[in-house]
Amino acid sequence: MTKVSFLGACNEVGSSAVLVDTGTEKMVMDYGVKLQEDPVQYPEEVKGKLNSILLTHTHLDHSGAVPYLYHQGQKCPLIGQDITLPFSRMLWYDSIKIAKMEGKRIKFNGHDIRRSVKKFRGVEYRKPFKIGKSRVTSYDAGHIPGSSMFFIENGGKKILYTGDFNTDDTRLLAGCDWDIPKPDVLVTESTYAGKEHPNREEEERKLIEVVNDTIANDGIAVIACFAIARSQEVMLILDNYGIKAPVYVEGMARQATDIVNDHPHLQNEYNSLKRAMKNMNVKYIQHHMQRKKIAKDPCVVITTSGMLSGGAVVYYLKRLHNREDCSLIMTGFQVPDTEGDNLLKTGRYVHEELDFKVKMNVNKFDFSAHSSDSDIISFIQKLSPKKVFCVHGERTDTFANDLNSKGFDAVSPKKGEEFTF
Ligand SMILES: [Zn+2]
Ligand SMILES: [Zn+2]
Repeated sequence: MTKVSFLGACNEVGSSAVLVDTGTEKMVMDYGVKLQEDPVQYPEEVKGKLNSILLTHTHLDHSGAVPYLYHQGQKCPLIGQDITLPFSRMLWYDSIKIAKMEGKRIKFNGHDIRRSVKKFRGVEYRKPFKIGKSRVTSYDAGHIPGSSMFFIENGGKKILYTGDFNTDDTRLLAGCDWDIPKPDVLVTESTYAGKEHPNREEEERKLIEVVNDTIANDGIAVIACFAIARSQEVMLILDNYGIKAPVYVEGMARQATDIVNDHPHLQNEYNSLKRAMKNMNVKYIQHHMQRKKIAKDPCVVITTSGMLSGGAVVYYLKRLHNREDCSLIMTGFQVPDTEGDNLLKTGRYVHEELDFKVKMNVNKFDFSAHSSDSDIISFIQKLSPKKVFCVHGERTDTFANDLNSKGFDAVSPKKGEEFTF
């Protein structure tokens, strides 16, 4: 008898966690947080000893509460792709810093991060490994570098958990692996359920047009990006279209870029990021004086955070918000009520003590790293599982109904709900 329990990300995005009890082993897949909530939202508590923690990828809604498991005394290995470790270490320490700044309580400390790092075991795609009597295989999820789906087999029962996945190729990454054995149970993310992406090439062309127009007007193009994957994707786009202006990388995007460059085999085209950066002579902004200097001449600045909620982008907004010749470019979905979302709705930037009208040319493009509605459905059709659980989405109820009307047996589980098969 295998039990699957849903500890988080039920009918929402944030604090992903799926507990699998095969009867011989207990494993949790992801253990994330929802940082936007105050207090920070955690998944349901894990009771008893775990045999393993499987981490699909580093985004905090999947990894953010892992150190809390070790804080509570778990001693099991933490398993993921090698690159997930340096990414996670960076994000865990950053989440402690942000929580402190915002006066939010976080349930772990530096000591727990060091414990998590010690317990980490790197695995490779498509190379099965054993956890007790269970056989586990990681498949490329195509979402960010190192993102994985986990396939667990035990006593003839098979489960696949997608984590976040993207079926489409991007410049940085190849789309997800489709050559996966048929599972009995599929747990799928549903971020873009009911939604399709705009044409990617068209989005790229529009981005380049804004950048070129800004440079031609002697302005500065500030591109707000998530540190991991999006910043690197944007560099590859700029290089592909032969951008002539100086390109600078700011904030946490620098560290994330170094980590991606250290893992050239994970890129869609081996080592393409390093080549693009060399080609454009990309420079990192290392200190405040350099910021002041570069903000005088036309250039492109790639900076965190992607939703304008902190990081170096705040400096550029403070300094450039009155300049109509400059542009601010957002490169992904803006979570409701974040600074980025509010700016799009009101034209004002409101953050901590700051509150001003932004006269820069403000743009938003969709370079999503998630599968669209039709892509998720094609993926499910290909795998034809006996049962589908829809998690990690704002409309998992509607999505499950939609899948049922297409002949699948789909459920949108509630937080804490347990299923046996
Ligand atoms: Zn993700
Ligand atoms: Zn996610």
